[in-house]
Amino acid sequence: MVSYNDGTMSLECILLGVAQDAGVPQAGCYCTTCANARANPANQHYTVCLGLIDRDRSACWMIDATPDFKHQHAALMAAAPGCEWQGIFLTHAHIGHYTGLIHLGKECMNARALPVHASARVCQFLCTNAPWSLLVRNNNIALIEIAPGQLCELGPGCSITALVVPHRDEFSDTVAYVIAGTQRSLFYCPDIDRWEDWGTPVRELCSTHDVSLIDGCFYDSTELKGRDMTLIPHPVIAHSMTVLNGLERDIRFVHLNHSNPVLTKTSAEYARVIAHGFGVGDQGDRWEL
Ligand SMILES: [Zn+2]
Ligand SMILES: [Zn+2]
Ligand SMILES: [Zn+2]
Repeated sequence: MVSYNDGTMSLECILLGVAQDAGVPQAGCYCTTCANARANPANQHYTVCLGLIDRDRSACWMIDATPDFKHQHAALMAAAPGCEWQGIFLTHAHIGHYTGLIHLGKECMNARALPVHASARVCQFLCTNAPWSLLVRNNNIALIEIAPGQLCELGPGCSITALVVPHRDEFSDTVAYVIAGTQRSLFYCPDIDRWEDWGTPVRELCSTHDVSLIDGCFYDSTELKGRDMTLIPHPVIAHSMTVLNGLERDIRFVHLNHSNPVLTKTSAEYARVIAHGFGVGDQGDRWEL
């Protein structure tokens, strides 16, 4: 039996996808990145999703249920052999973050009261809108409300805490998560409007935690030709690198739109991210906390 006080890393995080809600390739898009992804599966990217594994207690969880859920669930179980899947933590009710729940219903896994942790507004949304409401009625999922800022224990010395962040709230509010192991902690914020709209200073947060996986949807504000980018606000990577300059922490960008040049490792933008001491999330990246 492993003791939690002997310095053993007890919680492991694994990145199961890095793309924005629509994934790469994006349906109906024939840009070079999407065309290359269709031509070669090695260039495809699942929607952003984080797996949590506690090998000592043989347990694992997932943050968000994406449209790529079936592949990501398989990847998590392969990374955590012998572990029991103990539930899902949702960030918000945009399509890339919860629609994978369809796989829990009668037509598919027919899950038995799988714990789905979410904010009160996300729980309310799932209870009152079909087809999600049927998952609740059939007891495929057991909704558990998370109170923002309140530490939820995953195991001895390991916890997850939700932080409310500003983000387009058509259907629900949005949370980021802090995941703490016995040694280290990770800040996971895949979707947010602008750092400046948030009461919490992001620089302080990213310096507090050993690892930060943050919204890097677009590289800069010129990226989406012909679309008003003020209507889809995200902290662009070029700006985040200025805000977080010189922190000397493991900070990686995720939630990458198909248009984002950092998806191509030979791009000048990717090189710039690395040169500034940041990283770009890769499917399969792991951290021990
Ligand atoms: Zn998203
Ligand atoms: Zn594309
Ligand atoms: Zn969103």
